[in-house]
Amino acid sequence: MREAPMADGAARYRVHVRGTVQGVGFRPFIYRLARDEGLTGWVRNDSSGVVVEAEGPRERLESFVERLPREAPPVADIAEVRHEAIEPCGEAEFTIAHSERLPDALAEIPPDMGLCEDCRRELLDPADRRYRYPFINCTNCGPRFTIAESLPYDRPFTSMKIFAMCPRCQAEYDDPADRRFHAQPNACWDCGPRLELLDAAGRRIDADDPIAAVAEALRDGRIAAVKGLGGFHLAADATNPAAVQALRDRKWRELKPFAVMVPDLDAARRLCELTDAEAELLADYRKPIVLSRKRTGHPLADGVAPASQFFGLMLPYTPLHVLLLDCGFTALVMTSANRTDEPIAIDNTEALERLATVADLFLVHDRAILKRSDDSVTRLFRGEPLVQRRARGFVPRAIPVGLEGPVLALGADLKNTICIVRRGRAYVSQHIGDLEHADALAFFEETIEHFQGILETRPALVAHDLHPGYHSTAFARRLDGVRRVAVQHHHAHAAACMAEHGLEGPVLGVSLDGTGYGTDGKVWGGEFLDATLGGFERIAHLAYVPMPGGERAIREPWRMAIGTLGEAVPELEQAGVDPAELAAVEQLAARGVACPETSSMGRLFDAVSALLGICTRVSYEGQAAIELEAATVAGEQGAYAFTLDDAAEPWTIDPRPIVRAVLDDLRAATPAGLIATRFHNTIVRLVRDVCGRARRARGLDTAVLSGGCFQNRVLLEGVADGLERDGFDVRYHRRVPTNDGGIALGQAAVALAQAATSSP
Ligand code: ZN
Ligand code: ZN
Ligand code: FE
Repeated sequence: MREAPMADGAARYRVHVRGTVQGVGFRPFIYRLARDEGLTGWVRNDSSGVVVEAEGPRERLESFVERLPREAPPVADIAEVRHEAIEPCGEAEFTIAHSERLPDALAEIPPDMGLCEDCRRELLDPADRRYRYPFINCTNCGPRFTIAESLPYDRPFTSMKIFAMCPRCQAEYDDPADRRFHAQPNACWDCGPRLELLDAAGRRIDADDPIAAVAEALRDGRIAAVKGLGGFHLAADATNPAAVQALRDRKWRELKPFAVMVPDLDAARRLCELTDAEAELLADYRKPIVLSRKRTGHPLADGVAPASQFFGLMLPYTPLHVLLLDCGFTALVMTSANRTDEPIAIDNTEALERLATVADLFLVHDRAILKRSDDSVTRLFRGEPLVQRRARGFVPRAIPVGLEGPVLALGADLKNTICIVRRGRAYVSQHIGDLEHADALAFFEETIEHFQGILETRPALVAHDLHPGYHSTAFARRLDGVRRVAVQHHHAHAAACMAEHGLEGPVLGVSLDGTGYGTDGKVWGGEFLDATLGGFERIAHLAYVPMPGGERAIREPWRMAIGTLGEAVPELEQAGVDPAELAAVEQLAARGVACPETSSMGRLFDAVSALLGICTRVSYEGQAAIELEAATVAGEQGAYAFTLDDAAEPWTIDPRPIVRAVLDDLRAATPAGLIATRFHNTIVRLVRDVCGRARRARGLDTAVLSGGCFQNRVLLEGVADGLERDGFDVRYHRRVPTNDGGIALGQAAVALAQAATSSP
């Protein structure tokens, strides 16, 4: 016999769903699912996620609870589904109830999402009422994190609050069967945000179609500032060498590769040897920048990504981008409208002030960006995405870690991010930048406030870097009533990777990077650690060499060649370094004045890059090593000898014979590409050798790779493959950057482990 809704056996469940379930079309999904199962009751958002009460035959309820996580919208990120049986009360239908605020919040604001296929179709359909409307969106796409002020994620708490919906938009918003049901940024030509075209002086330019006007200017080789989702881009025609050069000249003459936006995957394939996995990642709702190998004979200007084998590609992710790229462009340079490591500009006035000398015209709109968020940068490794810069589309998505919290971690001063761990989930902020810049420091403080606000926690435990001179350390010192934990930089690197993989250790931490403050006050960076989350011992490191001129040696890698070789060789003069400067720095190194000692792997790459004449001065962080990697060739197996002193721990590996051998090869007229490759092979062998010894000495067989050096593909691939062949369980970063952008997660893990084992 079929059961009527209120027949015997009718039951009622209260279901709690925790995670990123607001702003992703979750309630309409629940509504449709409940109706499909013939259930009555209601669903509503609350501060802990979504609550459902559903009533009907028990087996229908069971089916409902079982289908819920399985059929949820792809962008929902369910942390937990719990249900309990309660008294039936017999409503007539299933409804969507109003949001309620709870004091104990666990809800999460979703990340921004790229334009969905349905909206794209409507955007380009002349019959649709939103035809060519640059702000079209729905529950499956559009801005979220960047327009949200606070929880709950509801229109009055977003920058959409100033736009009153027209009756048609309101009807969509109120209709549970509609794709725009409770789509908070819902808008149309009649009621929503509008574009405006301004000249460099901020004067309004009259244009029927501002996008077409910008496209025409770009085709003429001009540069436009375009307000996007998480900030302003500078746009230029990527096929026009003069336009790209003008952008470089005006944008502070940096040589860092520019990201490019292409209209679609076919266009991406014309520029790069795009793999299927790369295509999938490009088209993903997060729409990140994907680094992909350049195709020979590609049509872009050389100045787009000089000295790189890769292009950073992305697809249009807002309707505005779709319309702009649709104006017949092969590719547009779309680079963040800021100096590298300064925060991206978000405000119209701010953009006009900062970019007046860079952009010829400004395509702006009146939907405020409340949270800055750069484009995220990813790449594929072994068919899986790795995140190199984590921001738009990824933030504030939580990373599950086996640690309870709460803790606030302040990160490192370069490539800063902050992290809060709360109830087993780590919230790593968007890329903030270099705290040396006042704007970045303000953004850092703002982000700490914002994350504490949206996560409704003010952790009494605060982790920071051991470096006494860091701005983040100074910030930690100013906090009252908290317990501070100073975490060594390379321990934090290893711990970040451990936390990502749920490891407590002991593991063999291989932390290779440019700079981190050591427990002996020296500049560390080529470190092999016996690490748990709670502590570490330094097993081995690169032997110390002087860094002539300290910080200046980071900007001028040729100084490291002198520091490592102990002399100014003629090859540096041939590489274009001024002879007088060479002599002065040689003196400095000989006398040991202004020469902090370093065990940095990054600086060793710098020394070799300079010696080969590849890069003697950097215009952005890591340039010398990046260009050295780009010079490597396939198939070369040669390597240089190195010496390891294991008389006492920590063992030291002397980098000097390696650089000497590079010099000898150079003097034997060996091509730079071969030398660069042999050098990479040497570092891979060195890491394998030290790891093998560490395993024999300490029984460690899990190797955890972290630090900025592992952004180097040749190094990561060589080390990961090699160590696996040697029988190690090898772990590397996937969800947070291997560079200092991942440090905050590691600091959080270390502080929690230490707090758990010691009394406060
Ligand atoms: Zn959509
Ligand atoms: Zn409307
Ligand atoms: Fe680092």
